[in-house]
Amino acid sequence: MAKKLDKILIVDIEATCWEGALPEGMANDIIEIGICLLDINTGEITDNRGILVKPERSVVSDFCTELTTITQDMLDKEGISFKDACKILKTEYDSQSRAWASFGAYDLNQFKRQCTDLGIGYPFGPSHINVKTLFALKKKLGHEQGMAGALALLEIPLEGTHHRGVDDAKNIAKIMNWILNN
Ligand code: AMP
Ligand code: MG
Repeated sequence: MAKKLDKILIVDIEATCWEGALPEGMANDIIEIGICLLDINTGEITDNRGILVKPERSVVSDFCTELTTITQDMLDKEGISFKDACKILKTEYDSQSRAWASFGAYDLNQFKRQCTDLGIGYPFGPSHINVKTLFALKKKLGHEQGMAGALALLEIPLEGTHHRGVDDAKNIAKIMNWILNN
């Protein structure tokens, strides 16, 4: 049960990816954890940050860099371990006590899978909000919509670089804020 419901923790991850199938011997690794906090009373978005994470079972492909702008070099220089990134979520963002939200089920599934595979404790509590589904229901769309499409429907400009976790998280927070107030 989420205990701290004054703010929602919004998360958007980027992960290693390839144009076709997963290369043999590699696995999708989280390379950026984009985060922000959405104050449900004021709509204020704070603590927006992207934590770069060193991939442990894969390397960043050219395709992945084209999609995300993240390079292997950036991660070699600035990335921290997935374990340390999870610790930051718990200690600095109260991730185990808050409801957390992401756009779709991808982030939830990838977090669970990677934690299990690497033997690291899952850093969130049980309350996950799928903003993509919630938006489709709220708007009575009858189908789910990508993040850019959802922003366009709301006439909210896409801020920053799409497919960078730090910016995606902030844009998702704006969609969540609209849902809460309309
Ligand atoms: P997003 O939050 O939309 O930026 O996507 C999160 C992650 O999903 C990316 O970092 C990629 O690992 C994967 N992904 C998103 N779009 C694609 C795509 N078109 N092809 C392959 N992987 C993708
Ligand atoms: Mg993203």
